[in-house]
Amino acid sequence: KAKAAGRNGYAFFDSSLREHVQARVELEQALRRALEHGELEVYYQPIIDLGTDELTGFEALLRWNHPERGLVSPKEFIPVAEETGLIVPIGAWVLQQATEQLADWQANLGTARKLHMSVNVSPRQLRHDELVDQVAIALLDTGIDVSTLGLEITETAMMEDPDAAAATLRGLRDLGVTLAVDDFGTGYSALGYLKRFPVGIVKVDRSFVAGLGVDVDSEAIVRAVVAMAHAIGLTVVAEGIETPLQRDRLRELGCDMAQGYLYGCPRPASLTLSHHDLWVAGAA
Ligand code: C2E
Ligand code: MG
Ligand code: MG
Ligand code: MG
Repeated sequence: KAKAAGRNGYAFFDSSLREHVQARVELEQALRRALEHGELEVYYQPIIDLGTDELTGFEALLRWNHPERGLVSPKEFIPVAEETGLIVPIGAWVLQQATEQLADWQANLGTARKLHMSVNVSPRQLRHDELVDQVAIALLDTGIDVSTLGLEITETAMMEDPDAAAATLRGLRDLGVTLAVDDFGTGYSALGYLKRFPVGIVKVDRSFVAGLGVDVDSEAIVRAVVAMAHAIGLTVVAEGIETPLQRDRLRELGCDMAQGYLYGCPRPASLTLSHHDLWVAGAA
């Protein structure tokens, strides 16, 4: 820490930085406890086929039921979990929960289609060589059909260490899982790497969906992404659909699937189920 010390030894460590570091350390310890004490929970958000309005499956989204602070957003704690490496055991746990839940729903819900589950994977997990084994174990443990499991990776994560990422992604693809590029349009958005990595799905970031009917650029971008993805055989999922207008525009633009508050918020498994029953009945 010599470099950070000022002329009098500690000048740069003003109270706000000290507090910041302290808060970080506390968050890390609390997160470690959270995993051990069962404070983490996986929520599920429906993903819909825009052509038929059918439910195709869910995205698993992590939540932290903090004993004092209530529900904590993953935006707050995923970065810390990522920095500390805690994301590796946490990610393995999410994978296990989500695949067990999928096996349950596939066995007990009489849907015409076989439901899918999509799980987020962070850059650190992607660099960790256990990921392929973790996925293989989750598949063996639950007996779900490999083709019904998807993994979401942001384009930034793929590009961070493209060679290492490509190797891990090939290992995952060889298992048979579907890979999705998450938050597409917010990072490099290069056509080339979509061909380079074995991905099957592109998830259009919700900032572009929010722009539909508002600014012409968003519409042009979504149109271009759909055309490009379809040209190389990829499926397009739009995130963050909140209004019927956005849904209609996405349909016109040829987007394949959608996910957003219009169809359902992320919910705990028990509540997702009842919501899903409504879906099947066509009442939601
Ligand atoms: P993401 O993977 O892009 O997930 C989509 C986010 O958009 C979720 O935020 C979801 O709740 C939110 N969302 C869905 N529909 C709508 C909508 O109509 N309007 C608005 N405004 N938002 C919508 P959430 O659950 O807070 O998660 C934030 C991010 O945290 C995720 O973004 C993902 O990057 C990360 N994350 C969540 N769970 C996990 C996990 O298990 N592992 C890892 N590594 N990252 C996770
Ligand atoms: Mg995602
Ligand atoms: Mg996303
Ligand atoms: Mg997003």
